[in-house]
Amino acid sequence: MNFNCVFPSCNYKQNNIEEEEFLKHLKEKHKEEMEEVSNKTCIPVTMVEMMTVSNSKVFINS
Ligand SMILES: [Zn+2]
Repeated sequence: MNFNCVFPSCNYKQNNIEEEEFLKHLKEKHKEEMEEVSNKTCIPVTMVEMMTVSNSKVFINS
């Protein structure tokens, strides 16, 4: 799976990694941002994580 981090301030981009590895990046670098989104939207932080992972996935047809 290829990931391109959705946070505008972040340049993280990795190809052929597992979802867990990207999740690790999110928890290390974007914990506060995700908690902020969680607080603003009343969506549980685990849900925000899932959405961020999903939005960061890059699908390539080749
Ligand atoms: Zn990032």
